[in-house]
Amino acid sequence: MNAADIRQKFLDFFASKDHHIVSSAPIVVKDDPTLMFTNAGMNQFKDYFLGNKPAPYARVANTQKCLRVSGKHNDLEEVGYDTYHHTMFEMLGNWSFGNYFKKEALPWAWELLTEVYNLPKERMYVSVFGGDEKDNLPKDEEAFGIWKKILGSEERILFGSKKDNFWEMGETGPCGPCSEIHIDLRSDEEVARQSGYDLVNNDHPQVVEIWNNVFMEFNRLADGSLVKLPAQHVDTGMGFERLCMAIQGKQSNYDTDVFQPLIQFIAGEAGYTYGTDEKKDIATRVLADHIRAIAFAIADGQLPSNNKAGYVIRRILRRAVRYAFTFLGFKKPFLYKLVPVLADQTLGIFPELKAQQNFVVRVIEEEELAFLRTLENGLKRIDSLRDKFTSNQNIIDGKTAFELYDTFGFPADLTALIAKENGFSVDEAGFEKEMQEQKNRSRNAAQAEQSDWVILNDEAETAFIGYDNLTAEARLVKYRQV
Ligand code: ATP
Ligand code: MG
Ligand code: MG
Ligand code: MG
Repeated sequence: MNAADIRQKFLDFFASKDHHIVSSAPIVVKDDPTLMFTNAGMNQFKDYFLGNKPAPYARVANTQKCLRVSGKHNDLEEVGYDTYHHTMFEMLGNWSFGNYFKKEALPWAWELLTEVYNLPKERMYVSVFGGDEKDNLPKDEEAFGIWKKILGSEERILFGSKKDNFWEMGETGPCGPCSEIHIDLRSDEEVARQSGYDLVNNDHPQVVEIWNNVFMEFNRLADGSLVKLPAQHVDTGMGFERLCMAIQGKQSNYDTDVFQPLIQFIAGEAGYTYGTDEKKDIATRVLADHIRAIAFAIADGQLPSNNKAGYVIRRILRRAVRYAFTFLGFKKPFLYKLVPVLADQTLGIFPELKAQQNFVVRVIEEEELAFLRTLENGLKRIDSLRDKFTSNQNIIDGKTAFELYDTFGFPADLTALIAKENGFSVDEAGFEKEMQEQKNRSRNAAQAEQSDWVILNDEAETAFIGYDNLTAEARLVKYRQV
């Protein structure tokens, strides 16, 4: 089953259960000062859950373009190194606004996965909320009972903690337990050796969460107490690329037809075969992932810039350029060439990219040119300091490394790499100290984060989206340990 069929079957399934199919909201959020990018399918329905607006339909389903690069959900650092977190991804979702609840949602989810997609029942685990005494939150006995009936036993049901199995909008407001479905994609031999039960929610690359069913059941009041909501809602989200991996029998989202056209194009242009060189493979995955975030953000109206959402997009673009430059040998703009590949591939579901292809290409190419110039200037700066480093026992001091980072946009691992090529090393502790001081300065000025919604201070420069503070080698080690 190809990706387009998998997506369509999801929508058809919920249409057959009387859901109204709506389109994806833009990935860029313009009308909510507390959120920069859509990070879940439910964002566009926030007002219905809060009771600010009546929902026009009681049952809705869609596929939503999501971006998780800031605020509560920031997966940027995993991208390229793991095989199942992306910056931009599609979240398939179905919703009930005060209509059906657990006893419909859970059996439907199971029916779709096992009867429409034919995923093996014996490879799936489900989790339900195990309660939290400290917060006075009850165990989700109802979901447990429903699953027990569906599965015929309790063997594959896990009780999860508040962190994984309880959703809340903020300190106050709608909240409730959730029930997740995980799938074990390891080989039969590995499964025979170790049960997947203990690997659920443990960062195992082949035992992954695919679907989250949230039940908005309570309202948390300002005094901390919970009351039952007058109308109860269902909010679900399933990772489309992970679902494709499971159905297509792959070990990585990047091996599915969602990513292969991009991966093959990048590897072809870089003149190597994907899968033969670990560092190049990581860089290829970073590019294939980041171009989706960048292209769709621009198509949805967010140009790269020097502040807020625009800066987040610029940073993602620069991260991609850096991987392309350092590991794949692209010394000239390259990313923009991926836009037509992506636009053709997504024409059927997100035509907005193809419609603006030339514009998106131009913006990306300009950005690449500018950043590559900066990179070159940084390289010249390193050259001009050569004597200083040499007399300083071949060490690039923390202040200089930080200047390269701050002024020239050189992430620490790039400086380290260039230094190594030149026989220097970097005073990493000194760099970290400078970085920490900078963080302290910006923390004071920047954002207060509140659960799913990020409060941005108007005065603040931008949201901090995470530095690549580990070297590529260190990240590789971390990845291999999984
Ligand atoms: P994980 O624990 O794997 O980080 P999550 O619990 O943060 O996932 P949810 O917020 O429950 O994810 O989102 C619903 C679904 O969206 C997940 O079950 C998963 O399939 C998918 N998903 C979440 N984050 C990503 C991502 N960064 N890239 C791709 N798919 C994702
Ligand atoms: Mg997550
Ligand atoms: Mg999770
Ligand atoms: Mg989850």
